[in-house]
Amino acid sequence: MVFHGPGDLRQEELPVPEPAPGELVVRIDAALTCGTDVKTLRRGHPVMIPKIPTVFGHELAGTVTAVGAGVGRFRAGDRVVAANSAPCGECRPCLAGRPNLCEDLLFVNGAYGEFIALPPRLVAKNVVPLAASLPAARAAFAEPLACALGGIERARVESGQTVVVFGHGPLGCLLGMVAAARKARVLLVGKAGWRLERVRSLGIGECLDATRTDRIVEEVRGVTGGRGAEVAIDATGRPEIWEQAIDATGRGGSVVFFGGCAPGATVRLDTRRAHYEELTLLGAFHHTPELIRRAVELMESGVLVPDGLITHRMRLEAVREALELMAKGNALKVLIET
Ligand SMILES: [Zn+2]
Ligand SMILES: [Zn+2]
Repeated sequence: MVFHGPGDLRQEELPVPEPAPGELVVRIDAALTCGTDVKTLRRGHPVMIPKIPTVFGHELAGTVTAVGAGVGRFRAGDRVVAANSAPCGECRPCLAGRPNLCEDLLFVNGAYGEFIALPPRLVAKNVVPLAASLPAARAAFAEPLACALGGIERARVESGQTVVVFGHGPLGCLLGMVAAARKARVLLVGKAGWRLERVRSLGIGECLDATRTDRIVEEVRGVTGGRGAEVAIDATGRPEIWEQAIDATGRGGSVVFFGGCAPGATVRLDTRRAHYEELTLLGAFHHTPELIRRAVELMESGVLVPDGLITHRMRLEAVREALELMAKGNALKVLIET
């Protein structure tokens, strides 16, 4: 599937790539749809899609079919997860241990296809071999799960804390699952409908219905003894929800801004609370090679099993319909199989 610009995703026949030196060619066994792809299809993406046309999709697991000269770590037949980016390792943020903020992050797309060529930097830094026991459909969650791990890590979520997650899309769910795996109490705020029911049935946490009240912040405070949550996370990317996340955080608590808002959006901040209550306000963006590895480990060890978030399975030819389902809020994750 080739992205030619906003609203223009085409199915095209391309030659199976040959690996250049340092590259791997991978047959894609499973790909997952992602809200980012929906957004990108609608309006393009300045960072993930620097030039068009380009192959499309970024959450995948597959099997190595060809190995470029100089690659020692992999051979044909290896099952792998490839992250969708690789940091340079040399810029200031990279050297400071924050490679997700790399000034020259290399993005890779092409999950919605039969084969993908992985560039040398990605092969060197962000391709992870998979245990035989880890099915491809589950392994493909490595990328979004790594983002969720990063968000939870930013707030240093600990056992016994209350974490409220605003947003019940796939990432809200993954954030809740990671927080629950750390033995935190998880509150998930979503909108009534089949998705919230699905999330409720997955048992990730206590679900609060934001459509039933215009006082969701009071509701969060109500179920936390009036104190508010130790950690509040926005996974909606809407500025008014960022504000609710701040308001739902208790004294000394942390707010994680996980969902990216439209360019130029601003939020209101009560300076009294920020100062006297020592609120910690944290951005969370993307993932690192370390987080991708940990995501794979958590799934291999069975600590995290995100399969329940897959609501549909479709063929590669149906990617546009799959993204359409996502756009309408009628799917959590669609598994794309060739
Ligand atoms: Zn994604
Ligand atoms: Zn860098």
